[in-house]
Amino acid sequence: MSEKKTYGFTTTILHNDRHKPIEHGSLHKPIHTSVAFGYTDARQLASVFQGKEPGFRYGRQGNPTISALEDKVSKMEDGVATLCFGTGMAAIGALFQALLKAGDAIVSSSFLFGNTNSLWQTVAGQGVDVAFVDATDVTQVEAALTPNTRMVFVETIANPRTQVADLARIGELCRERGILYVVDNTMTSPWLFRPKSVGAGLVVNSLTKSIGGHGIALGGALTDTGLFDWSAYPNIAPNFRKQPAQAQGMAQLRAKALRDFGASLGPEAAHHIAVGAETLALRMTRTCANALALATMLEADERVAKVHYPGLASHPQHGIVTSLFRAGGSLLSFELHEAIDPFDYLNRLRLAIPASNLGDNRTLVIPVAHTIFFEMGAERRASMGIAESLIRVSVGIEDTDDLVKDFRQALDA
Ligand SMILES: *Cc1c(COP(=O)(O)O)cnc(C)c1O
Repeated sequence: MSEKKTYGFTTTILHNDRHKPIEHGSLHKPIHTSVAFGYTDARQLASVFQGKEPGFRYGRQGNPTISALEDKVSKMEDGVATLCFGTGMAAIGALFQALLKAGDAIVSSSFLFGNTNSLWQTVAGQGVDVAFVDATDVTQVEAALTPNTRMVFVETIANPRTQVADLARIGELCRERGILYVVDNTMTSPWLFRPKSVGAGLVVNSLTKSIGGHGIALGGALTDTGLFDWSAYPNIAPNFRKQPAQAQGMAQLRAKALRDFGASLGPEAAHHIAVGAETLALRMTRTCANALALATMLEADERVAKVHYPGLASHPQHGIVTSLFRAGGSLLSFELHEAIDPFDYLNRLRLAIPASNLGDNRTLVIPVAHTIFFEMGAERRASMGIAESLIRVSVGIEDTDDLVKDFRQALDA
């Protein structure tokens, strides 16, 4: 198939494997499980190791199945290169492993996925200064920058309270100051939003979530958008400086985070994720419509105290959503009137399942303060705007009426 830049999102993903010949005309890139790759010419093996020609060395640093998925994620994000990892957290951990040194500083949104929050605490304990700021306000990001700031890290829509970072202004600020801008795009997915459009240098995706959709495989990815000038990044080791400027960041990430740290994605998981990714746009269209219907119903009900959903006009950053995203996303959270026990409410739901994944095809619910944000304690929860009664809903692809009825009958009961 000849490459055409004009194809839409789904066409591109669906046919992407066929840009390179696939064994036996197979329509899917097969699952390659071989750890080692044999060469008939030992000189070629040497030149692959020296990065002089393309090829695979050892499974920890990649294989043909992973590579096909990396290429797909690059297309989704309109990036120049992608590295896949065993989980989304491994992709975020790679930033620390490969790009930061003691004495460096980072500025991070304080509205964060709980495990990223915990990881940044670990990073802070190892000599990197971590400044947490309200990233809905670019002036707070600016005020936290120091001469040692190496990166600014934000999520698009924060989980679980759905704050939306001031993505475009933070991008401008990072560009002016020459700082690496890292955007975790998991909650929006490249279908709703491409962080490259606001100047991100690196994009994080948890492939476990909407990109896979099925909830049967863990995975993560880092995509280089090509916008960041790695020749100006202080922590690139001399060995990787030999590469062209655009490739230096990914070369160091592949070596330090995959080869040395071993946070690699398995080929079976990569295959599951690649199959899921084919329907990302179709599924997100449905989950976003379902989420809006559910949020609208909940907001109108007096038994519900608060609804947080970026697709609602009442959401504080709704303006950013309408200007940057295709839709408001598949995640919402809400607080019930205090007379209703949130656990009893959750137990009355018949379709929505109490479980802790996101971006699953099935609707999942979780009482946030008692589960995923329990460990951090009440004080930090309060600083992140998380009420003790908050219920998070990851909205699935069920038929809209069924879903709205389920959440209503649990209120009525
Ligand atoms: C789930 C999630 C992650 C971590 O991804 P895993 O694949 O579960 O490790 C990172 N960031 C965000 C925003 C997430 O929702």
